[in-house]
Amino acid sequence: MEQEIQLNEHNKQEYPPMHSAEHILNQTMVRMFGCERSRHTHIERKKSKLDYPLPVCPTPDQIAEVERRVNEVISANLPVTMHYMSQQEAAAKFDLGKLPEDASETLRIVCIGDYDACPCIGTHVENTSEIGKFRISSTRYADGIFRIVFRLDEK
Ligand SMILES: [Zn+2]
Repeated sequence: MEQEIQLNEHNKQEYPPMHSAEHILNQTMVRMFGCERSRHTHIERKKSKLDYPLPVCPTPDQIAEVERRVNEVISANLPVTMHYMSQQEAAAKFDLGKLPEDASETLRIVCIGDYDACPCIGTHVENTSEIGKFRISSTRYADGIFRIVFRLDEK
């Protein structure tokens, strides 16, 4: 079933642990700062960059707290599960602003335990225990955009 559904274009080469970590980081940023999920992402095997629109630059303590929370979620060994729903149903629950106009009527929702749920067709780990240790390697704040660069270390 999964292969028949065309949701949108996606980089097939992506590294599943990075992509699952991206979802956890997005949810953590939404919860801590009330911002949107990152719309500008650059995900690679070795490091990823995510940009968040924020009115002020987070403090070093807040940045350390982001890292701590993401690792807490990873350490909880949460299952990553896929669910399917209509676009109409999904529109009531999620921001579908990123969705291309030609996306299929049925959307796949990726859930990380009960921590995060997000429409996505990317490749994910089956359990957060496969992600490794999340480490923020640098941050930058300019023109209202907070950029986080992170890596995943072996546990
Ligand atoms: Zn995704």
